[in-house]
Amino acid sequence: MDSTRIRSVEGIPLKIPFAKSFTMAAPHQATRNEVEVYLVRITTDDGVVGIGETQAWRRQGSSETLHGLHAKLQSMAAPALVGRSVLDIAPVMHALSEQLSGGLYLQAAVGDALYDAKARTLGLSVAQMLGGRCRDHIDVGIALGITGDAKAMIDAAERAVEQGYRHLRIKIGIDARKDLLGLQALRAHFDDRVVLRADANGSMRYGDALRLLRQLEPLDLDIVEQPLAAWDLEGMAALAAAVRIPLSADEAISDTHSLVDVASRRAARVIQTKSAKNGGIHSIAKLWTLAGALGIDIFPGNHPSTSLNVAAVAQLAASWPQPLLAGDFQTGLVDMLADDIVQVPVRVEGGRVHVPEGHGMGVALDEDKVRRYRVDVQ
Ligand SMILES: [Mg+2]
Repeated sequence: MDSTRIRSVEGIPLKIPFAKSFTMAAPHQATRNEVEVYLVRITTDDGVVGIGETQAWRRQGSSETLHGLHAKLQSMAAPALVGRSVLDIAPVMHALSEQLSGGLYLQAAVGDALYDAKARTLGLSVAQMLGGRCRDHIDVGIALGITGDAKAMIDAAERAVEQGYRHLRIKIGIDARKDLLGLQALRAHFDDRVVLRADANGSMRYGDALRLLRQLEPLDLDIVEQPLAAWDLEGMAALAAAVRIPLSADEAISDTHSLVDVASRRAARVIQTKSAKNGGIHSIAKLWTLAGALGIDIFPGNHPSTSLNVAAVAQLAASWPQPLLAGDFQTGLVDMLADDIVQVPVRVEGGRVHVPEGHGMGVALDEDKVRRYRVDVQ
């Protein structure tokens, strides 16, 4: 009997509170108090366990709920997985993608669970399995939510800089005047000690974005992320041609087709990828390869997540021989979630994420924490 066969597939819905509520411009100036995490646990016949994480993070391009993810896992994904070998990731993920008609948020958790289980079966880390460990730590920045108050922003930024961060991504897009004043105050306070970037979460209209970005040009931002709606690639291209600040696409990037669309219109020079949004390691590796070939820079990101998803991005980034921008895929871990669900959290210090050691993703669930935050979605 093939001991690498998948014996069971379990979905685990969780609600993990934020340490403090968090506001961004879209959707609808939403303030969130918790993150909805969905885990997929795959067990093979020989008892190897692989775990993947996604989030039900409703925003542009995603309407996922814990209930919906769970229903799709149970009715569609799990029956297609049981009996297959965890060594056969490509055919299993190809079939799953067809079956889900996309469904990247669920694919992320299933695919990352397969990578975790396959690497553990082979006695390797995921980075080693992906091609080898090119780096032991990943440089990261941090994202700061909208406060509407320059003094509060400087205080938050000062705390981040004290922790060793040099790259500060500021959420903008609710009030252009306050955005300008806040970023001016940050640049005046820190001078060239920090790299400033901004993220509007697709909330601005073209004329407002053009005016604000022209005003921001003297502040030497390295990126403005998704100033316009995900669908407005013509607007993004016109904006990119009109201002000196490089634009990044986040909400506009889902699969490889969307990346080709963004690149062919010259709508962005940077892409942000996220585990859940972009379908986990299996799909993100394709996006990164394609971005590299298109001359587009890569910003490794994430929705706010636990150490499981931070480890997944860290493993992929560790296996990446080419340059990466200082993303902020660890933000949920260090600044946002009130708790973690692993035995030893991923180590983040001095503006660096340390790539976990050990087999698979290099992290193990804390079952007590999982029980504490588990919710019933039946
Ligand atoms: Mg973004």
